[in-house]
Amino acid sequence: MTALDHTPVTALRGVGAQMRDKLARIGITTIQDVLFHLPLRYMDRTRLSPIGSLQANAEVVIEGQVMGTDVVYGRRRSLMCKVQDRTGIVTLRFFHFNVAQRNNLTAGTAIRCYGEVRHGKAGLELYHPEYQLLDDSTPAPLAQHLTPVYPASEGLTQYRLRSIAEQALTCIDDNNLAELLPAELNSDQTDNGGLLRKNQPSLADALRFLHAPPAEAPLQLLAEGKHPAQQRLALEELLAHHLSLLRLRLQIRQHRAPALKPANSLTRKFLCALPFKLTAAQQKVGREIAADIAQPIPMLRLLQGDVGSGKTVVAALAALQAINSGYQAAIMAPTEILAEQHRLNFDNWFSPLGIKIAWLTGKQKGKARQVILETLADGSAQIIIGTHALFQEDVRFHKLGLTIIDEQHRFGVQQRLALREKGFSEGLIPHQLIMTATPIPRTLAMSVYADLDFSVIDELPAGRIPINTVAISDQRRDEVIDRIRSACGEGQQAYWVCTLIEESDVLEAQAAEVTASELRLLLPELHMGLVHGRLKPGEKAQVMNAFKAGELDLLVATTVIEVGVDVPNASLMIIENPERLGLAQLHQLRGRVGRGSIASHCVLLYATPLSQRARDRIAIMRQTNDGFVIAEEDLKIRGPGEVLGTRQTGELNLRIANLARDAYLLDQVKATANALLHNTPDKVAPIIRRWLGENERYGQV
Ligand code: ADP
Ligand code: MG
Repeated sequence: MTALDHTPVTALRGVGAQMRDKLARIGITTIQDVLFHLPLRYMDRTRLSPIGSLQANAEVVIEGQVMGTDVVYGRRRSLMCKVQDRTGIVTLRFFHFNVAQRNNLTAGTAIRCYGEVRHGKAGLELYHPEYQLLDDSTPAPLAQHLTPVYPASEGLTQYRLRSIAEQALTCIDDNNLAELLPAELNSDQTDNGGLLRKNQPSLADALRFLHAPPAEAPLQLLAEGKHPAQQRLALEELLAHHLSLLRLRLQIRQHRAPALKPANSLTRKFLCALPFKLTAAQQKVGREIAADIAQPIPMLRLLQGDVGSGKTVVAALAALQAINSGYQAAIMAPTEILAEQHRLNFDNWFSPLGIKIAWLTGKQKGKARQVILETLADGSAQIIIGTHALFQEDVRFHKLGLTIIDEQHRFGVQQRLALREKGFSEGLIPHQLIMTATPIPRTLAMSVYADLDFSVIDELPAGRIPINTVAISDQRRDEVIDRIRSACGEGQQAYWVCTLIEESDVLEAQAAEVTASELRLLLPELHMGLVHGRLKPGEKAQVMNAFKAGELDLLVATTVIEVGVDVPNASLMIIENPERLGLAQLHQLRGRVGRGSIASHCVLLYATPLSQRARDRIAIMRQTNDGFVIAEEDLKIRGPGEVLGTRQTGELNLRIANLARDAYLLDQVKATANALLHNTPDKVAPIIRRWLGENERYGQV
């Protein structure tokens, strides 16, 4: 009666060293792991379908007699076998077959087949069905329960996976599979709006059900992932992810951070010199951060604010507080363009205050880089702006008190952690402020950022006029060109953004070059620039600066301009083939206009014909400028990958939970997580291990 999380898979029949290694490759080492390797879907092989009733696309089990078998030479050689029952005839078609197989399927043989029905040349066909020859002496019972289909991988067939799952189920007894959720969850008193019904299945029952649902189980509900057994497990999975982040947070907050004193006089000078007043939201968020970093506990805060909401000023305030206390502040941006832009801003703001700025990106090399590194190491640089070059091995800070990471969605959790470790000196770790313009739906926040506190700038600076978004088909390209001509004729500036399906710098750059030369022909009177990912950082910056200075009217660009570019005089953006991008990304792009005091327009220049889904998505872009609404929609339509960027979703590898579908569980998850941490902390590690595996997904801090 060893616990199943300590029983190796080799305890199962038929699992030898080779199988063990294959299973280990997909993270299965114990019997408990087998049980948590959940089916993707189910097939119903519990009843026979009369051949005469078959319909295309259905998965069926049929039984009949072989009428004849032939090799047919068409475009592809195939083996065709006609099977008949009392109600009709169907053809089995095999593209891969051998002589033995052919010889077995002789006329008169009784056969049972499982497969998907398709329309074929010979009427209804089953392509490559699984089949079994029947003979009277060994009657073959039909499946007693629905047949699970597991996530498989090389060398692991469904057949083997089913067989080990079946065995693993028989291993469960009352004592060897720990129920880790607190008892209240299953009790009658819990009134949580019916989220967790009192007859919520136990862990063992849920697993038994999901690996072998009874024949009458509701297939539709299972396909939607809404069966109570699935929801029971989804809850535990979300809990595991949430706990892993909370634990990480606790670990970090056991360290100490410098208590940074409020920089009253510096702040006053800084604010007086600004050409605008802070919005109420900026002030509120500024106070939250100021209070946090005055404490000797590391701040871990995520600042969300829609594009153009003015996050940079808030970052500057926090940096002043660090500098005032004799610490350095580092700001990291995801691209050189953005870093360059921050440098210009901070130079404007901080140089008059006598603050020394350093700047480090990948482009500084050799001696120049050495000189910069020295200013970081000896503390003469007080604020350091750069790209991820700030992470590199040989970069040492004198006394880093605060790191600010801009546009978080480009960085994964790992990088976030690496930067936390950086600047760890004299037993103190820096405070960390993460800024993102991608509003994070609460669902995601709890699963991906539960280690962070949240601040939101929920207000745009006064006087901003909402961007007017229109969708125009590419058949009316000429009208769009006219529009650029007249806007630029009136002294406005415009962006033309080229998008590509493939993630290829080269192709994207080529596409942008082609578009730029077309536009040059059509709009010869305009000064035009071109930026794409293949330009050298210096070249890119040069073009961007020219655009910013108003020397260029039209900037043709790839999505490299997505983040952070700030040119208030730009009031028109054309996005070509917007249907190729996620909503969050479109919203980011669109946020490059609407930064000044003139009404701005965004033209979504789509290729026809549009799918219904693309049409719906474009409609959302036209209806709202609210990044939160857009992010929620994006999450629904395209899943967390689109909202957060692929790097982050790789880390969030959910087996059964679905963030959009299961959002309603999150209050329960949060409450349960807190209860567990306080009441039964010994259960935390086993839950995390059960769902996330042994490999500490967030490394050691
Ligand atoms: P984001 O949140 O997208 O990073 P920025 O910090 O780049 O936004 O700010 C966008 C623009 O708005 C900048 O030109 C900035 O100087 C300006 N800005 C910031 N705060 C205010 C404010 N309170 N009033 C007016 N303009 C502001
Ligand atoms: Mg910004």
